[in-house]
Amino acid sequence: MKDLLKKLTSIPAISGDEKKLTDFVYSHFKSLNFATFRDDFGNVWAYNYAAESHQDSNIQNTRDPDVQPDIMFEAHIDEVGFMVTKVCDNGFIKVAPVGGVDPGILQNIEVVIHTKNGDIPGVFCSIPPHLKDKTTDDKPPQIKDLYIDTFGVTSIEIGDYVSYIHEFSELTNDTFASKSLDNRVGIALLLKIAEYVSQNTYSTNNPPKKIAFLASVQEEVGCRGAAMGGYKILPKKAIVIDVTHGISPNVTAEDDAFKLDSGVAIGAGATLDKQIFHRLKELATNANIPYTVEVCGANSGTNAWSLQNLAGGIPCGLISIPLRYMHSPSEVAQLYSIDSTLKLMQEVCQNGI
Ligand SMILES: [Zn+2]
Repeated sequence: MKDLLKKLTSIPAISGDEKKLTDFVYSHFKSLNFATFRDDFGNVWAYNYAAESHQDSNIQNTRDPDVQPDIMFEAHIDEVGFMVTKVCDNGFIKVAPVGGVDPGILQNIEVVIHTKNGDIPGVFCSIPPHLKDKTTDDKPPQIKDLYIDTFGVTSIEIGDYVSYIHEFSELTNDTFASKSLDNRVGIALLLKIAEYVSQNTYSTNNPPKKIAFLASVQEEVGCRGAAMGGYKILPKKAIVIDVTHGISPNVTAEDDAFKLDSGVAIGAGATLDKQIFHRLKELATNANIPYTVEVCGANSGTNAWSLQNLAGGIPCGLISIPLRYMHSPSEVAQLYSIDSTLKLMQEVCQNGI
């Protein structure tokens, strides 16, 4: 799992610019001999059964129980980042955020600018403490005030994407830090459960026979790709895999955050399917899988929100992995909760949902 996460976090995939990672995921599904598809937006999906006719059929036919997947696992492939808005003299550039980024964390952060001629390294500029004007410079900066220093590069163009640079690093207690663990953790689980299904070694206690897997683009800019991909697949039920907030100083259970090692968080909410919620809890209990319940109220802020009322409605469940420092270059997760989530997904495949 760690090696896979290391690989997945090394491939940039800012919302709208996910092609390199969708290529990787596409090849992975293909290597499992699954019927694998992609669309012009970059969504990638696969079936564990012959589904070519499904791909070509119209919306009516995809509701045909003979071709409709019993269950779809979904995770978003994209990450937050930036786009170049202005190229100034001497290789300084300005950017706009792509997705939810806190400008307060950006100073001194290293980034990569993805240009048509290759990747250019850069650093968000800061003012040394010695030179700060104490009366004005202590306010948190706004993104429009920040520059990235590329040290004289002039080949950058407006519209180029910019991503965080932070290599996957192992910390103590089976925790690790990297950029884009939101939601490479989900993508890693999607690929792992696809491998598990491809081996087809599980017992037949009423398992779902037809399973679909969707890696969707553009979640960080409004849960867009899942609606596109989900419409093409139209499963009977869907389970969305994403991250949730991990407890840390000043981020508490009162903020709906969870201990990093608390296992899988099972989502409950008005727009999440009640039966799936109870079934996930039952499966976790029966298999001794550690879990917590995450109450989402109305909008879960995940792709479950966009899938649930798609094309007449898809009953959705949500499972999440606690993650600290979300949308920063050093997001932190722990293996125990990721493994717990995988076990629960395996239970879904073994025993039905
Ligand atoms: Zn996110």
